[in-house]
Amino acid sequence: MKRNHFLKFALSAAMVVVFFVSCETESVEETELTSTEVRAKLESLGFNTDNLMEDSLNGVSGYTVEGDIFLTEKQINEMAPANGVGTEHYRTSNIVGPTGRVINVYMDADFNSTMQAAFDDALGRYNALGLDITFQRSSSANSDIEVLSQRLKKVRGGGTILGRSAGFPDASGNPASPIVLNSTVYNPRRGGIPADAATVIAHEIGHAIGFRHTDFDQRQYSCGGSAADEGQAGVGAIYIPGTPSGPEAGSWMLSCSNGTDRPFTGGDQTALTEVY
Ligand SMILES: [Zn+2]
Repeated sequence: MKRNHFLKFALSAAMVVVFFVSCETESVEETELTSTEVRAKLESLGFNTDNLMEDSLNGVSGYTVEGDIFLTEKQINEMAPANGVGTEHYRTSNIVGPTGRVINVYMDADFNSTMQAAFDDALGRYNALGLDITFQRSSSANSDIEVLSQRLKKVRGGGTILGRSAGFPDASGNPASPIVLNSTVYNPRRGGIPADAATVIAHEIGHAIGFRHTDFDQRQYSCGGSAADEGQAGVGAIYIPGTPSGPEAGSWMLSCSNGTDRPFTGGDQTALTEVY
């Protein structure tokens, strides 16, 4: 998730973003993709690739798409296309399971009390809905999802990155891990924690359990700037029945944060209870 920067976005929209991949790719995947193929594949999955970056998360190489979703080449290759169009709630083809599973989440002990409270708030919002899965604090060793503090660089031509998720659930029903929160915004030890901390934590957990951005095909809805239209938007994102058919202000899965706290909206709750 990132914070919107109207002007910067408008400026960047006027620039052509050239994307380079170095020759020294570390992995020896059978299906190694060129940067053009990665972009094409992501677009076919319905991702907005305007700010696509070659990146790494916790020492693992991959790509960051839509500002806060980190995907390895393997994850990109394994994502299955599906149908759905518009600005609604979307999920990936893999979700977390089985029903009744307790997801252990570790919050970096370095975070101060305000951040720890925001973390409890975020988990409490999920647990209050009586979903098929529940969340509880755990140690790092026992965790399914780790929430860590790290300095995150800006997305090319974009705003400040608030947090980043390690993609989506795998085919075995495990949530993605880790989640990294930007230490320059949510300073682990000092005060001045922004009001959207619990929302950003809930947002990144949302990705980890399979939720896509509700405005992935028109990021200008929450991020501002000019229309970011994707010709193939919709493929790779499964529409969640019963969720609003138009843009929903305040959804926790909007691409960009407006800096305020955004507890689950009615549409968010429908999306969560429909999937879980
Ligand atoms: Zn996001």
